[in-house]
Amino acid sequence: MANEAATRLKEVHANIVKACKASRREASEVTLIAVSKTHPADRIVPLLEAGHRVFGENRVQEAQEKWPALREAYREVELHLIGQLQSNKAEDAVALFDCIHALDRPSLVKALAKAMDKADKRVPCFIQVNVGEEEQKGGCAITDLPALLGQARAADIPIAGLMCIPPFDIEPAPFFALLAKLAQDNGLSGLSMGMSGDYESAVMLGASHVRVGTALFGARN
Ligand SMILES: *Cc1c(COP(=O)(O)O)cnc(C)c1O
Repeated sequence: MANEAATRLKEVHANIVKACKASRREASEVTLIAVSKTHPADRIVPLLEAGHRVFGENRVQEAQEKWPALREAYREVELHLIGQLQSNKAEDAVALFDCIHALDRPSLVKALAKAMDKADKRVPCFIQVNVGEEEQKGGCAITDLPALLGQARAADIPIAGLMCIPPFDIEPAPFFALLAKLAQDNGLSGLSMGMSGDYESAVMLGASHVRVGTALFGARN
């Protein structure tokens, strides 16, 4: 199993390098976030052993259960919160994570700013944009982005860039291109986009962070 994880990691890295070459980018511009949600520590260790250090979780409580011990054992782990965040979990999220990918509403700006002030720690955040304008999906509306960005900047929250999860089952490239355009229009460089099924496309369209779970760990239960 350890070998399998290392092999998958190499494959994903190779695909990122290929996509970078095709789009004349440097592979060093792209951070691979290994999304370890639902997987127990013993599935994560092989990737840590293979030298990988950047991981993503989507639930604060699950991450609190798994990562303190792993961080004791492996130095310099960088942990990203990629899922929706409830305001009442902001303090826990600020304490545990190095980056938060789903800042999407004014109430969360307030909660995170308060938590960061209290902890005296600034955690970079991506603003999630609902690029497909889907009702059930997280992310701020495209038209609300400038105001939310202004609020985050006023609250002294470091903004790493924009994040999206395109609509399921449609070609994602136009949504990646849209997110890149929105970032450019708002003076942001970071782009958190691309998952197992579409990370190469996301890289070609400018992703700075790809969030890959299944292609590294296999299917989730
Ligand atoms: C689970 C998840 C991923 C990873 O999805 P895979 O298809 O398994 O690569 C990426 N981003 C977010 C926000 C997720 O919740």
